[in-house]
Amino acid sequence: MRALTVTPGVKDSIQLENIDQPSPGSSQALLRVREIGVCGTDLDLNQGFYGEAPPGSNYLITGHESLSTVEDIPKNPQGITKGDLVVPTVRRPDNCMTCVHGESDMCLTGNYKEHGIKGLHGFGSDYAISDIAFLVKVPPDLTDVAVLLEPMSVAEKGVYQAFKIQERMLWKPKKVLILGAGPVGLLTSYLLRLKGLDVVVTATRASDSLKARLAQRAGATYVNTMEQPLLSLGKFDLIMEETGSAQIALQATGMLNTNGIMCFLGIYAPTEAPEDIGAFYKDVVLGNKTFFGSVNANINYFRMGLKNFSEIQRQFPGILHDTISVRIPPEHFQEAYSPNKDNIKTVIRFQN
Ligand code: BGC
Repeated sequence: MRALTVTPGVKDSIQLENIDQPSPGSSQALLRVREIGVCGTDLDLNQGFYGEAPPGSNYLITGHESLSTVEDIPKNPQGITKGDLVVPTVRRPDNCMTCVHGESDMCLTGNYKEHGIKGLHGFGSDYAISDIAFLVKVPPDLTDVAVLLEPMSVAEKGVYQAFKIQERMLWKPKKVLILGAGPVGLLTSYLLRLKGLDVVVTATRASDSLKARLAQRAGATYVNTMEQPLLSLGKFDLIMEETGSAQIALQATGMLNTNGIMCFLGIYAPTEAPEDIGAFYKDVVLGNKTFFGSVNANINYFRMGLKNFSEIQRQFPGILHDTISVRIPPEHFQEAYSPNKDNIKTVIRFQN
């Protein structure tokens, strides 16, 4: 079968190989992969920044955002059967307290595994396997957009956690700032617009770019920070940092309203910051401000994402479909790995 593989730690090692089809264990399903999505993590894997092959393998099949049809599955309590459409979650637990509790996204030890990233093959191949307990069944009417469910689960977790943390007091947020209009930034904007919030999305693309138009279709305001400085936008109750740029994140920390909360969702590179840290801490204390990080998502956030996808389809028809800007066959994979800032989400189609 065809498989998109990288050699972890080796720059530009991505290739389309022919390898043997995997055989599922007794608690696993064999999946016929339809599509995978390519994200920044996949590009970083191909840069050799991180990634870990499964034990005994010298390559890693990439692809953690995916949509498959079940090809073969033993009888299971979830009621998933052959022919069902499914999205597998990414992370698999170890035996730490939070993992055992069903929150492997909060793993305490770091000994979790992640399909297509850390210690487990991903879904970028004609066939793949996943534990049945981590499959989310997708209704047929979401077939053409469900490959976006994994990035959506990341948005869902960040937003859910922010609101959960803010139960610490009476909090009625009105204004939200989303830094970055990549797929997770845009999906977060659709989600927060469903909640009726006043959403501003910032990025560096033109005001008539596809990104800008998608944000606007959901009723958000798009700001090109090349034209209008970030700091001129005022104060916000909730800030979602999704650019992965430490400089932008730092600038925005001063843009929180009293009692506000800021969520960090990027993977930041080490950066020195000569800042008045005393003034920052004083502002955090005197304004009861909260800053937190969020990574990965457990199956509950995938389920929330599915519900919200149906609502997004209803309120903003076609927006999810149009968020997938490029669809290519596996043979054209290089297109997904060459930088194109105007592109939003590239999906690689293994099967129509
Ligand atoms: C994935 C997460 C994963 C993280 C770190 C992200 O791209 O969406 O599921 O935990 O990378 O590996």
